[in-house]
Amino acid sequence: MKRIIPFILALCLLAGCGSSGNGNTETPAPPDAPAVEAPAQPTEPEPKINWGGDVVSTIRADQLGYRPGDTKKAAIITDDTTFEISRAADGVVVLGAALSEPMRANAADETVRVADFSALAEPGEYFLVTSEGRSYPFVISDSPYGDLRAAVLEMFHYQKCGVEIEAGIWSHPECHAELATIFDTEDTKDVSGGWHDAGDYGRYVVPAAKAIADLLLAYENAPNPDPEALPTAWHKIEWMLKMQDEATGGVYHKVTCRSFPALDIMPQGERNPLVLSPISPTATADFAASMALAARFYPEQREALLAAAISAWEWCEANPDAPGFRNPPRISTGEYGDSSSKDERFWAACELFAATGDEKYHDYIKSDTLYTGFGWQAVGSYGLVAYLFGAGDKADGELYAQMKDKLLADCEGIMGQYAQNPYGDSMGGSFPWGSSMNVANNAVTLILGSRLADKPEYVEAALDHMHYLLGYNSLAQSFITGYGAVSPQNPHHRPSVAAGAAVPGMVVGGPESGLSDPALKAACEGFPAAKRYIDDKESYASNEITIYWNSPVYFALALLDL
Ligand SMILES: [Zn+2]
Repeated sequence: MKRIIPFILALCLLAGCGSSGNGNTETPAPPDAPAVEAPAQPTEPEPKINWGGDVVSTIRADQLGYRPGDTKKAAIITDDTTFEISRAADGVVVLGAALSEPMRANAADETVRVADFSALAEPGEYFLVTSEGRSYPFVISDSPYGDLRAAVLEMFHYQKCGVEIEAGIWSHPECHAELATIFDTEDTKDVSGGWHDAGDYGRYVVPAAKAIADLLLAYENAPNPDPEALPTAWHKIEWMLKMQDEATGGVYHKVTCRSFPALDIMPQGERNPLVLSPISPTATADFAASMALAARFYPEQREALLAAAISAWEWCEANPDAPGFRNPPRISTGEYGDSSSKDERFWAACELFAATGDEKYHDYIKSDTLYTGFGWQAVGSYGLVAYLFGAGDKADGELYAQMKDKLLADCEGIMGQYAQNPYGDSMGGSFPWGSSMNVANNAVTLILGSRLADKPEYVEAALDHMHYLLGYNSLAQSFITGYGAVSPQNPHHRPSVAAGAAVPGMVVGGPESGLSDPALKAACEGFPAAKRYIDDKESYASNEITIYWNSPVYFALALLDL
């Protein structure tokens, strides 16, 4: 059986006891004093050294680290029943403890044991050791993620369109600044600006509304908000305003070329004509919601933003049965299709009620059911948040209670999945396209839920969701470029492909159960759901990046003050 460091020794090492004092406070004995026999000194225990051998991918921990006071866990495939933590500098073992009983990770089709080293709070760099090897090093620190949060926000600078950007090897001159032609007409419109949506250079209103909301709500709800979040979001808001048809208030669904360019084309190299796809109800309602939300963050633009939001709402009122968006003929760029705009209208009504107090929006909310979701397609939770945190005295007590119950029911559902999983996520058995977004959205849901109920365990679970994204997952893989020992090197992102190196701070989609691209299907057919991921630039279903996958990760990091 493996020798385990005695618990007392572990505690001593943690507490730093046993170190000798400098003796300056001792009074020397006078020379004529009678000799006294010195008491026997306790023997200093030899520190145990365990370098643990090679790094093994069977130990899955956060590859950046943990804060001293937070819960710290790793999942390990092992027959061992104990583990140790060693200091990275000298191999000294600082903690030894028992592993959990074996636990099934169904989505990964494997059995693991969980190492809980929450007792270790001494800042430093460490690795976890079993008889098979050791983990990647990680830190325990007040700021274990360093500049990760800033990088996740900086990603939006790299995605800027319509302007020259200075960004090292990813710099580019002004792009996509020409007028766009409105689909099926000869009319043109200036819709320059904003952010490129993803690995392609399209600009889409529906996912943009989610990304803007995440950045603004992060600013509003973070213990230490980043002032840069507001000018960052404004670059996209200015573009959103251009996407509205002044005559009707309706909002064009997207502006793209007719098809995607080659994968190694920089933004300025995409020279095909830009086309504005038709107005859609989801784009228009999302626009109304996100512009009404934005109105409270930019006082000087408040009136213009509210007027734009109200005009979009009026389009929605006049078009109650407008069909969901489908790509028009000969346009093959991202569709962001959605057969129902009910939840988008719900979000818009909640934001407009919070912003204006006009009872007409209240009546609309009361006339329909409640919705949830922090995605681009299901957006109801943004409406709940607008009402629960923004309506103040104007809120109806009964409706407020129903909305609170709705959001907390979502939290309980997430906690149910999380509790059954030895890894840090709450995805259950299904990893949809962009699963990293769902992981981050669930973290955001839990943190906001914890502010409505006395549930500190929600915050603890949300932290584990961040640890999942940074290595506490069945692939021992970080899903954020440039962060973690094993991070994506080949994201499906044109500027990264063209430059030959990944822009840092980008959240990739992560495992995708549906195997929705040929490269992923060829590589991962037959794999369990949680392992259907490849770090391959061709895998748009598992290794692309988007603005609305970065935005909820930024939101969660800001809420958690990481
Ligand atoms: Zn561009």
